[in-house]
Amino acid sequence: MKKIGVLTSGGDSPGMNAAIRAVVRSGIYHGLKVVGIKRGYEGLIHGDIEDMKISSVADIIHRGGTMLRTARSEDFKTEEGFKKAINVINVFGIDGIIVIGGDGSFRGAQSLSQAGIPTIGIPGTIDNDLAYTDYTIGFDTAINTVLHAISNIRDTSTSHERANIIEVMGRHCGDIALFSGLAGGAESIMIPEDLVSVDEVCKKLIQGKNRGKLHSIILLAEGAAENSYDIKKEIEEKAGIEVRLTILGHIQRGGSPTAFDRILASRMGGYAVDILLQGKGSRVVGMKANEICDMDISEALSMKKEIHKGMYELAQILSR
Ligand code: ADP
Repeated sequence: MKKIGVLTSGGDSPGMNAAIRAVVRSGIYHGLKVVGIKRGYEGLIHGDIEDMKISSVADIIHRGGTMLRTARSEDFKTEEGFKKAINVINVFGIDGIIVIGGDGSFRGAQSLSQAGIPTIGIPGTIDNDLAYTDYTIGFDTAINTVLHAISNIRDTSTSHERANIIEVMGRHCGDIALFSGLAGGAESIMIPEDLVSVDEVCKKLIQGKNRGKLHSIILLAEGAAENSYDIKKEIEEKAGIEVRLTILGHIQRGGSPTAFDRILASRMGGYAVDILLQGKGSRVVGMKANEICDMDISEALSMKKEIHKGMYELAQILSR
């Protein structure tokens, strides 16, 4: 192993830069040449590659986004596009690749591994939707962003004695809603893994109002609703309470990463280089019980993500 490449792919997340920095600096420390592949698999196909030095990753640990840029590449999924990518890897003399991204990007990493290129995945997504790891890079920053929004909305919710629905990201995973809802003391949390009925949410709202509660926050995971506006309307009609809906959107994807995400990204980046040097390939890096670990890509991708039941039940008990 003499030369390794690093790329970020799919949706970006805060902390990707800290992971790139860790890969580049650990790689150079171990005597490797490190190249940065721009715009994910799209840049790989087109040979959009540059040499990385220690200084290339200066001043990025605190920045959201990804200095390598990211992209979604339909071409990479075609036989022709994939062949081009393999040619570029050979022409540039790249011996191993570290892919920072979500489950889609990991499937790309799996294909590269199957083609004989040692490839390691680092989980970079705010969704925390990968079952093999306790946390993905960017999740902690995202839930802190949501928490900030909850606090702001609660102020105005109290003044006007309204209920507020806050729609958060997470695709099919309810972790962003659950974790930020628990931290923010949300009255109801609606997640795709365990759909509570609108009637149940309304019952809680009415009971709260009768107890003199001035505000109510409903955390709604995007995967739990086909149309958030319909849910808002239904709650207003059934509970007879004015409801405002805030869709947080991409605000959750940016921002300076939290200490937790920077540390996670640094540890995972360093670890990914270590295992490449040990001759491993076709692995993904994760964190279990605060220790960094690795697992076969295919095994990791076959695991089904489940919601933390204990935390979900606790959130319900505490929000009564
Ligand atoms: P994320 O990594 O955030 O889940 P995507 O699902 O969009 O994002 O995947 C990012 C990229 O990974 C895709 O644009 C594509 O180039 C590559 N990819 C996704 N699925 C596959 C697959 N089954 N085989 C090969 N490459 C894939």
